[in-house]
Amino acid sequence: MPTANFGENITFSTSKFTKLKSKGDKIQFRIIKAPFYDGKHFLKDENGNWDIHSCPRINERQDCPYCENFFKALKKAKKDGLDKKEADKLTNPWKASISYYYPVINRETGNFEVFQTTSGVRNQIETEISLNAKTLKRDLVVLRTEVPGNYYILSIVDSSESKPLTEDEEAKFKIGKETNLSDYICGTEDEDSNVAFEDNSVDLEDNKEVEEAFDL
Ligand SMILES: [Zn+2]
Repeated sequence: MPTANFGENITFSTSKFTKLKSKGDKIQFRIIKAPFYDGKHFLKDENGNWDIHSCPRINERQDCPYCENFFKALKKAKKDGLDKKEADKLTNPWKASISYYYPVINRETGNFEVFQTTSGVRNQIETEISLNAKTLKRDLVVLRTEVPGNYYILSIVDSSESKPLTEDEEAKFKIGKETNLSDYICGTEDEDSNVAFEDNSVDLEDNKEVEEAFDL
């Protein structure tokens, strides 16, 4: 079973990715290519210390003992007719959290960056792309509102208001597109845009304790 220790996760999840850290933070960007994703379980040991494990079901399509516990707990909750709050209490400790990593051109800095975000934002982006393929030729804005239900809001900048990429941005875009980023990002490339995990994973936006503990 692949596991990742605390130290590795800290190196992996801080500094080199662009994140929206506080309420009101936003980013305007152009997507370069498909995102990478990374599933983890944030468990607590008997002393209350965090114990982080990579999720083999999400990352490698293999069996995962923690997800198995999750599905068992879910089944039990349904069988016992628990309400949502009670069911969550039973299942949440075993739920996997997924982060998505989009290679982008940040339109404010003009730099190549990797934007780390939640599955909720990824689903909003996928919806926009399926409605209009030109979404990838426009600037996207993600705003952290922290409003329940709309924790992050995605908007697409109208083509008349999207500045064309500068020569420098074009060059960085091309390099980003041609470079294999899997070693840099350490995730799994999201090749199948129809894969949906939301039914059995927890969005980090619902898991503020974890988010704050790990600066995700
Ligand atoms: Zn798992």
